[in-house]
Amino acid sequence: MGTVRNDRTCGTSGISKRGTHGTSGRVKRHLAILGAALTAVAVAASSAGAGAAQLEKGCYDRAAQPYTSAVDSHLHFRPFGGKAIPFGELANYLHKSGVRHASMYGIGQTLPADSSCTYYLDCPGTPVVPSMKNDFVNASDYAAEKPEDPELTLSMTFMDLRRPETIPPGIALYDREFPGMFRWAGEVNVVKQALFPNGHQAATDENIKNWAPFMNTLRDRGIPITLHSDLGENAHPTKYLHLMEEVLRRYPHNKIVWAHMGLSKELTTMNPDEHIKIVQRLLDEHPNLTIDLSWRVLEDAYFSKPGVRAKYASFLDRNPTRAIPGTDFVASRNKDYRTYEEELEVTSRINKALDDEAFRDIALGENYYRLLGSHEKAPQVCRAR
Ligand SMILES: [Zn+2]
Repeated sequence: MGTVRNDRTCGTSGISKRGTHGTSGRVKRHLAILGAALTAVAVAASSAGAGAAQLEKGCYDRAAQPYTSAVDSHLHFRPFGGKAIPFGELANYLHKSGVRHASMYGIGQTLPADSSCTYYLDCPGTPVVPSMKNDFVNASDYAAEKPEDPELTLSMTFMDLRRPETIPPGIALYDREFPGMFRWAGEVNVVKQALFPNGHQAATDENIKNWAPFMNTLRDRGIPITLHSDLGENAHPTKYLHLMEEVLRRYPHNKIVWAHMGLSKELTTMNPDEHIKIVQRLLDEHPNLTIDLSWRVLEDAYFSKPGVRAKYASFLDRNPTRAIPGTDFVASRNKDYRTYEEELEVTSRINKALDDEAFRDIALGENYYRLLGSHEKAPQVCRAR
């Protein structure tokens, strides 16, 4: 397995290297950052001379440095089935594309071991269920490599939210096997319509009530949980809103992350104003709620439509501390670096429309670091532009 730390000079990426990132961290990391900064200065100098001077001040020059997100809070290191991209290779994708920190998700729905499918939608009728296997592979890979650049946060993805009684013993097992290593939970499915043909059912209010023991554990440990909870479908855009509301009502002190703001391939035509109004209300009512902007469906079905990007950008500018970025890349072997780079670019396009405060908080990772309880800080954005 290749190390992720010997690729500092790779310049083949279409995304230029990120120059400054954080002010804390280990010496090794500083040297790496310095190296990357020098590369960025060299790259930037030809096209934007001002970039070099601003880099010296340690601020982030949006005119000369990438708009792609510096953190990937939603990245599936394991596929639904079939072969995965090897850990070292995927870590190198992050390094190469300027992503400095990522959450290491398993996958909330795995195909049976004897299935030849790599994507559940290709195999309706084949049951998919949460599993510990992918978390164990991730934890073992992580423990063997312990990469520093990118830094990675292990996430528990095994939780079957319809069988909450199985979750505390699962966490206890992880505590024994990998003490202190899992610092995130999710992405786990409250309701995911795309999985209905594969036997998935929405969690019920009764299930949600019975989450209390494991939600208390997550709360006490300050562990965020990313929930995939579809808002609805095109014919009934708010069909499942009541489930997210029930979760938020019952667990106001948990760090809850709402994956994709509830949007999905089943909900591509909702009126953006109505969507924003609902999300704004939930953010106002629930201070511990964070929205996850991952998945290219958001760009393709919403942000890229005429007039819509500006609406979401001003919504995020009004709520700069409440969102985190991600690709939702799934590491199946039929993909390569180009796929990751493209998904990062597409999911980052919204960043260009953000004001400096929201750009720093969201794209440069400040919100992600704070949610994680990390000491890492995002760089300040340079004032003069
Ligand atoms: Zn996902």
